[in-house]
Amino acid sequence: MKIICVGRNYVDHAKELGNQVPAEPVLFLKPDTALVPKRNPFFIPDFSREIHHELELVVRIDKIGKHIQEKFAHKYFNQLTLGIDFTARDLQHALKQKGLPWEKAKAFDGSALIGKWVEKSKFPDLQNLELKLLKNDQLVQKGNSADMLFSIHRIIEEVSKYFTLKIGDLIFTGTPAGVGPVQPQDKLEGFLEDQRLFSINVK
Ligand code: MG
Repeated sequence: MKIICVGRNYVDHAKELGNQVPAEPVLFLKPDTALVPKRNPFFIPDFSREIHHELELVVRIDKIGKHIQEKFAHKYFNQLTLGIDFTARDLQHALKQKGLPWEKAKAFDGSALIGKWVEKSKFPDLQNLELKLLKNDQLVQKGNSADMLFSIHRIIEEVSKYFTLKIGDLIFTGTPAGVGPVQPQDKLEGFLEDQRLFSINVK
């Protein structure tokens, strides 16, 4: 199983980090060891002083595919959830400055949280879903999948050009604006259209 992530998929988030809006999806990977085990807290790693939350819509692939056209992408997944792409922002800045790969900052153990799966058939329009992140009961991130630069189907087309998609693979589709730091004792809760899909404590 692999985890594919899209970077800079919302204009407001690209801007908040001072990045350009990309002409094609920015992709990176996390290994399966990045997943937070069920019911575990998120442990802040000792190599970073600035871990950020990035709330994202996540889809689970359930059919093998390669070179999937956008118009057929809907056949390759049935479930979605919310997740957090935890990012060691300090390390990422240092790596970006040197032109080095991001994995140390993005793919470490525990850097991928996923919530409860929901059937996509529950939603009339996947490109009009509201996602919200509460930190200690305060709203810190709010976005709508309508604002994605590249739709879920377009992302599947792009990803499958490079990587064969297999059953169980996860795609993190990018974060809206409002990313920010997490500290020990924080509680993070993700809501998709007012349904809470995860709650996790930071240690
Ligand atoms: Mg992200």
